[in-house]
Amino acid sequence: MPAWLDELNREVISCTLCPRLVEYRERVAREKRRAYRDCEYWGKPVPGFGDPNARILVLGLAPGAHGSNRTGRPFTGDASGKFMYPVLHETGFANQPNATDRDDGLKLKDLYITAAARCAPPDNKPLPQELANCAPYLDREMAGLKKLKVVVALGKIAFDAYLHHLKRLGLLSSKAPYVFKHGAKYSLPGGCVLLASYHPSNQNTQTGKLTRPMFVSIFKHAATLAASLDDRGGAQRRKKTRSADKESPNHADR
Ligand code: SF4
Repeated sequence: MPAWLDELNREVISCTLCPRLVEYRERVAREKRRAYRDCEYWGKPVPGFGDPNARILVLGLAPGAHGSNRTGRPFTGDASGKFMYPVLHETGFANQPNATDRDDGLKLKDLYITAAARCAPPDNKPLPQELANCAPYLDREMAGLKKLKVVVALGKIAFDAYLHHLKRLGLLSSKAPYVFKHGAKYSLPGGCVLLASYHPSNQNTQTGKLTRPMFVSIFKHAATLAASLDDRGGAQRRKKTRSADKESPNHADR
C-alpha cells in the first residue's frame, strides 16, 4: 500500500468527528446481532479497499451496521456484498466472488471501493453534516488515486457526494444538470466519467429494481469506458509529444 494511503487509512480508522455515528457504530459492535454474537465487531470507521492503481472507483453510501461495521472492509459480510462481489468477479475486477472477512484472500484489480460516509449510520442514513465531515477523506482518496477514469456511484447519495467533491475543487458550479438515474453517464470536469447505478441493497435487489444482469452491465460499461479514456489519453499524449517534437529546435537532429 502506498504511504499516502496508509496514512489516510490510519486517520480514517481513528476518526471521531461525528458523535452520533461514533455512538451508533460502537453500540452496534457491543450489542451485536444474534447471528454474529461470537464475532468480534470492527466497530470503527471503515477505510477504502482495493487497487491503488485503479482506473475505476466504486463509491458507496456507508458501512452496513452488521456488514462492514462488523468485518472492517467495504461490502464485506452483508447482503450487498453478496450481490456485488460475484459481479466484480464475473467482470474481472475481483479474484474471487466471496467476501466474508478481511482475511478471506479477496483482491481487487483496477478497482477501488470507498464510501460517502465511513461509519455505519442508523437506518443507513447519514446526516448532511456527517457527509460533510467525511468529505475531506474522499477528496484525499481522489487526489491519491491518480489513474482514475470512471466513478461508479451506487445510489443518489454517492452520486451527489462525487458532484460535491467536484464543487469543492471548483470544477463544477452547479450539480443541477446532473440527474441521478440508473445507467446515466456524465463526462465531468476533472477528467472522470460518472456512471450512476442503483445501490445493491437488499431493498433494491430483492424487489428486482436492480438485477444481476443490470449490475453486470454497469461494470462492463465501466471497463469499456476506462479503456477508451485510456486510449484517448494516450492519443492526446502522443499528439502533444509530436507537436513538441516539431517545435523543438533539436527536432531535425533526431
Ligand atoms: S463518518 Fe467519517 S467523519 Fe464521521 S466519524 Fe466516521 S470517519 Fe469520521
